[in-house]
Amino acid sequence: MTNYTNLLKEYDLKVTPQRVAIVEELYKNGHMNIDDLYKKLLSKFPSVSLATIYKNINAMVEKVFLSEVKLPNSKSVYELVKTEHAHLVCSSCGYIEDIILDASSIQEQANNLSSFKIDSTSIVLSGLCPHCSK
Ligand SMILES: [Zn+2]
Ligand SMILES: [Zn+2]
Repeated sequence: MTNYTNLLKEYDLKVTPQRVAIVEELYKNGHMNIDDLYKKLLSKFPSVSLATIYKNINAMVEKVFLSEVKLPNSKSVYELVKTEHAHLVCSSCGYIEDIILDASSIQEQANNLSSFKIDSTSIVLSGLCPHCSK
């Protein structure tokens, strides 16, 4: 089992039972929005508030331990920071899959077409997951 406590310490984050639970859920589920996290945490900590979850998530995003994935038509989801990747999102059930894509050609095209100084790329592709397209 991964030691979530040490992981939080590594990122210079204060360790609280709620934070450990958030990390545990994200490990298990990959990507989750605040509402899902809140529901999960409520079952373990009946007195936890939505504001506390927000505060914890923001602190962890600030330390680049979690990253926010902005989705076009739904709430942002959060995940543990890992190698840069794109997201496949199912427009029917909301399932999200990570996919490693090389974004450099897109950045290159954009650099050629615009004088914008690009420093990050976020790619979300949507469609139907294998389960929903059956
Ligand atoms: Zn689906
Ligand atoms: Zn992801």
